Formats: sequence, structure tokens, C-alpha cells
Amino acid sequence: MGKTFDIGLDRLTGGAQFSIGSAITTNPGTTKNEDGFAHAGAGVAASQFGAIRSASRGTFFLETFGCQMNDHDSEKVAGVLLARGYTQVESPESASLILYNTCSIREKAAQKVFSRLGEFGVQQNDGRVIGVLGCVAQQEGEEIFRRAPWVSLVCGSASYSKLPELLAQVEAGNQRVTGLDTDTDETFETPVTRRDNPWRAYLTIIEGCDKACSYCVVPYTRGPERSRASDSILREVRQLADLGYSEVQLLGQTVNSYADPTARKMRFSELLLAVADAPGIRRVRFTTSHPRDFTQDIVDAIDRQPKLCNHVHLPVQSGSTRVLRAMQRTYSREEYLEKIAMIRGAKRAVSITTDIIVGFPGETDADLRETLSLLDAVKYDAMFSFKYSPRPHTPSLAMSDAIPEEEKSRRLAVLQEKQREIQVARHATMVGVTFELLVSGKSRRENHWSGHTSCHRVINFTSQERALLGKYVQVRVTGATPNSLLGEQAP
Ligand code: SAM
Ligand code: SF4
Repeated sequence: MGKTFDIGLDRLTGGAQFSIGSAITTNPGTTKNEDGFAHAGAGVAASQFGAIRSASRGTFFLETFGCQMNDHDSEKVAGVLLARGYTQVESPESASLILYNTCSIREKAAQKVFSRLGEFGVQQNDGRVIGVLGCVAQQEGEEIFRRAPWVSLVCGSASYSKLPELLAQVEAGNQRVTGLDTDTDETFETPVTRRDNPWRAYLTIIEGCDKACSYCVVPYTRGPERSRASDSILREVRQLADLGYSEVQLLGQTVNSYADPTARKMRFSELLLAVADAPGIRRVRFTTSHPRDFTQDIVDAIDRQPKLCNHVHLPVQSGSTRVLRAMQRTYSREEYLEKIAMIRGAKRAVSITTDIIVGFPGETDADLRETLSLLDAVKYDAMFSFKYSPRPHTPSLAMSDAIPEEEKSRRLAVLQEKQREIQVARHATMVGVTFELLVSGKSRRENHWSGHTSCHRVINFTSQERALLGKYVQVRVTGATPNSLLGEQAP
């Protein structure tokens, strides 16, 4: 199953018959789509959209692996396909075009794709077209055709702007179509984006990465940094607000390295404030921030504008300066802690989350203890933790002193237990506190809902009200688990 989010969509699609829930928006920076159809820059509901392209080309199934950037790339890829007259379906069995948008950040994620492709090997002559998109496509390139000869399209994310041309070649019957350039200076802007969530919209403002962390395959798979023009971003935000989106999340591998390519040269913090100024926008998030480029003006902007969410995701990766050097993270433990002190110095309490890798080559018990003591020092609100996974095309692949898998698992368990204790203690202090929530889920259980706070905590809560999805409500916390909070709607 592809990732889908299909509640409350009739509001945005005018009740149109669409194969899966979706909200369609046009890119205001684009005046015509690849078929030459003119767009006025206003939102296009699905019913109108059907009128744009009534001739059907077939059906597509799109499964997404990996991060939020991949999720959003898939929303744009789906927009490109819908604009070409395809209909989206929920299973590969009923699709004429099957696409996998892949992740190669860790080996396990990359393997998943080949196991999916393996499912098609025996039925390769049934006429269906199969494509591999994203990071595994970029990483493996034409090797994919050798391992899975039934694949016809291999396209990395840096080449998505060429997707319409590549699809035209696939439709013409070409069995080996590739888009593998990373030397592009273009960002992937589509005439139409089919958004999955009707209240929170993702918006990529910077693609690729110019950092060179020694363990990370992203600079290879996603290419160099390209920032999107600030005026185009702001036009799209206004369009999203007109369509009823109240929360926008600005995305980038290093979102705060944003460098406006226009003469306006907006700083990242200025862009945040300008996005928050769009009428109708109530919350602005951004992820992922790189510690080196995290500056005081971002904290000042959060203090000045309450619509900027009080949450910063600031991956540290390790608490040991020695390991950080080997990782080429460009900061020491002390410099990272200075950034934390800067965020803690904000007038509003800002929640801080992080990513950590254990078992990097040469990591000692003493290094791990430094990471554990960093958790004690920072008291993160949440942590994503990973065992180091050697990746192709990365400098750390050649490093000696690999840590055995079992030992990596042990270290991960120790780290996660430490963070669990921190979260239990932190959540206990929240019982009795009232938060504003954007309601985004309804449980099957009567009167049970869920939503997230500005500081990005999930609260499962009860309410006697009937229609809460997409609304902002006040919720009082009544209980806590290590990963979420329980509450009831406050009067
Ligand atoms: N750009 C972000 C940053 O600099 O923190 C992170 C992007 S990456 C998609 C998300 C996370 O995956 C990283 O923060 C890191 O913790 C993890 N990661 C990346 N490469 C990894 C590897 N080779 N093995 C294990 N985890 C990895
Ligand atoms: Fe990878 Fe480092 Fe770039 Fe993040 S900053 S995407 S971890 S190379």
C-alpha cells in the first residue's frame, strides 16, 4: 500500500470522485502545464481537474519509502501523473503504471525496494510498466535494469523536473528510460501537486545537500543544494492558505541553509516570518535544521511570531567531538551545546528533537557515554536513533574499525532506554497543562481524537464534539506515556 491520508477530502475536492483522497493545488509560479494547459494560479479542485484532462491514460500506483521530502516529492509526482490523465489507484494489482519512490539512507530501506521489485519478476510480460524513483534509483542507476529487467523507468530526484519528458518516452514504449543527472540547478516545481493531507501542506524550499557528512549518501543521491525562489514560495503559501491549509511545513535536508536565488536575497528567518504573514496560515514548521547554520535570528523570529512553531529538529548525530569530526559534521559537542543554549534562551519554551547514529566506525564506549551525557544535558523532547549503516559512495565506507551488528544493537538499546526515561519524566510535568491542538485524526473509538501541538507533541484526547478534523482546539493533558500524551478537550 502506498502512504495515503484520506479523510476530510470532500471539503477540498468539492466531493469529486477521485480514486484516493487527495487535494489538488496548482503551482502559482507556473503558467501552463506540460500539455500547454493554462492555469490562472488559483487552486484547482479535483472536479475542475477532471475537466482539464478527461482522457484517461491508465492507472498508477505510487508507493513511498523514507523521509518527508520523499513524501512530498511523491505528492508532486502524483500531480504530474494526474495532469497527464492518469488515475491513482490503491494497489499495484489494479495499476498499469507502478512507481516506487525509494530511500537509500540505510541499507534496510534500499533492500525493501528490491524485494518489492522481486514480486514482479515472474509476471513481467503482463503489460504493466514499472518505475523506480528517488534515492535508490540515483544510487544504483542502470544497475537496476540488470537486477530487475522488468523495470522501464529509473529516475533520481534531481531529475524530477524532466519527469513529463521521461513519462512520454515510457508511454511511447521505450523500455529503458533514465533520468540520472545530478548536475541540475533546477528545483522540482510542478504545475499541479496532489497533497495527501488536507490541513498541513509540505513545501520543499531547498533541495539537495552541500554538506559532506562522511556517512551520508544524500549529497550523492540528491545532488547539490538548490534553493527555490522566495517569491514563488510565498505565492504558493498564499494559494495554500486560500485552499484552507492552515499549517505549512517548509522542507529541506538542511532547510536553514536556504539561500534565496532572487535579488531579494531573503534570509531564512525572514522567509519564515513572511510565510507566517500569509492570511489564513496559523502554523509554520521547518525541518531539518543543520546545527552549523542555526543562527540567533531564527530564534528571534520564533520569539517575535507565535505562528512559528516552537519546535526545532536539530540532529546532533553523536555527543563525542571525536566522532563528530570523523563524521565531518562541522561542529564540536561544545559548539552544538552553544546552539542549544541559544534556543533555550528564547522567550517561549521551544521543544528540541534530534537524530543520533550509534556504532559509527571507531566509536568507543567512552564516545557512547558522551552521547548519553549529551542526552542528559539537552533533555530532548524526542529522538530518532539509528544504527550506523555503511552506504555506497560515502567516505565512511572505507573506514576501518567497523562495530559488530550485535554491539550496535546493544548501544542502540542503551541509548533508547536513556531517552525513554527522559521522555517519561518530561511528559509527567505536562499533566494538567492545556495545549492548542490541530486535530488530524479520529479514532474508531467513539469520541476519541488525536492532534499535534505547536511544539509537535501528539495528544490523544476525548471530546463530545462531532466534527473536529482540521480544527484547532484546546486540550488539557490528563495522562502520559513515553511517546504521547492523553487528554480531554478543555471547555
Ligand atoms: N540533513 C539532516 C541532517 O543533517 O541532520 C538529516 C537527513 S537524513 C535523511 C536523516 C537521518 O538519517 C540523519 O540525521 C542520520 O541520523 C540518519 N542517517 C543518515 N545516514 C545514515 C547512515 N549511513 N546510517 C545510519 N543513519 C544514517
Ligand atoms: Fe546527509 Fe549531512 Fe547533508 Fe544531512 S547534512 S543530508 S546528514 S550530508
